[in-house]
Amino acid sequence: MSKTKPTKKKAAQGKAKPIASKSKKSAAAKKPASKPVPKKKVKSAPAKKSLPKKPVKKASPPKSAPKKKAPASKPVAKKSAVKAALTKAKSPTAKPAPVPAKPTPKPIASAKTTTQTKPVAAPAPVAKVTKAAPAFVTASKTAPAPVSAAVKAPITKKSPAQSLVAAGPTKSGALFYDSHMHTPLCKHAWGEPEEYAQQAVKAGLKGIIFTCHCPMPNGFWPSVRMSESEFDTYVALVQRAANAFKGKLDIRLGIESEYYPGCEEYIASLHQRADFHYVLGAVHWQAKEYLNKFETGTIENFRRAYFENLAKSAESGLYDCLAHPDLVKNYHPDSWCFAIVKNTVTTALDRIAATGVAMELNTSGLNKSYSEMNPGIEMLRMMAERKIPIVVGSDSHRAVRVGEHFVTALNNLTEVGYEKVSYFLNRQRIDLKISDVLASLKKAADHNA
Ligand SMILES: [Zn+2]
Ligand SMILES: [Zn+2]
Repeated sequence: MSKTKPTKKKAAQGKAKPIASKSKKSAAAKKPASKPVPKKKVKSAPAKKSLPKKPVKKASPPKSAPKKKAPASKPVAKKSAVKAALTKAKSPTAKPAPVPAKPTPKPIASAKTTTQTKPVAAPAPVAKVTKAAPAFVTASKTAPAPVSAAVKAPITKKSPAQSLVAAGPTKSGALFYDSHMHTPLCKHAWGEPEEYAQQAVKAGLKGIIFTCHCPMPNGFWPSVRMSESEFDTYVALVQRAANAFKGKLDIRLGIESEYYPGCEEYIASLHQRADFHYVLGAVHWQAKEYLNKFETGTIENFRRAYFENLAKSAESGLYDCLAHPDLVKNYHPDSWCFAIVKNTVTTALDRIAATGVAMELNTSGLNKSYSEMNPGIEMLRMMAERKIPIVVGSDSHRAVRVGEHFVTALNNLTEVGYEKVSYFLNRQRIDLKISDVLASLKKAADHNA
């Protein structure tokens, strides 16, 4: 469950724990779903030419791969395959990282999966950060709760994350991470993880964190997320990319985890199914279920309810950071007026600041109907006044967007008073000076050009 401070994960390296997705039949099976998540209008199509495509194979799990989840209780046993894989230097990347034998039903796996074939350099970096991190024991990581099972432990609040000292820059000078991006498993993103990784290297990033849309119970907006049965495939995809880019880019497993009142236990359990490095909470007002529940009064009331739910998501203690925190401005964007909801936002930010949870500056907002980053500058300034930590994410649904508008985002942060920007590894916040990040992006991009 919940992650309280003491619950921090430790870098146990060994056993790969299965990220088994035991679970219930995909709730997603049911169809409906309302409108798709705001699709970005990024035009350029992913160029996959450079990557040799190859189908994900359902090879039998290599020993290093995650085995079925064991009921175990000790930390070591709990390590997820991904983290274990990232942690250990082993896997020779010469060969494509095999995808766990899991019956991977989905298309993503199908033909398009690509695999990095080039020999990988020293495996060091990826594992490095993990190991360097002080021991954050995950006492709570007990046997993965069956999705269907309710979380027994009470959901406790996440204590304000401690800021860690970041590992140094890479040889290229790269220092920062893009902490929000997707995979085709969510059905509205395009391109293989390796393509996103390649773009990240070009953008001068040190690493990327995949945060695809999580499965949800009871058929909650299934058309824009991975199904229960695809969860293991997701973990395997990220692991495959991490292996392929070892030594070149630090690739981590995260999740964009839906916040919807009533689903807290499911979500808490979900967060135990893998060793996520970053859990990004998201309130998506576009979900039919959300609209049915909250679109009951005026437009303004709907907007206010959004910010109230945002505050509740922070107070749930389930998340490291809150995604695109003013996404609701795309609801009737023509009449969006920050001043009208400012009091509500003020209250919400006071509540959020009290939890210690970080908030995201999402650059994809520029591609949405209300064309402006999420949040806009005024709300961002209010966040700065409350010293709410900021994580920058591109929310890429296409590889070409990785790292997009980061310089502008960082400059905006400076403009409103921020001196630091953050990212998460091992679910621990790491702060960097914005000036250092800006310099690193240029230097690394030039180096990798
Ligand atoms: Zn999306
Ligand atoms: Zn997203």
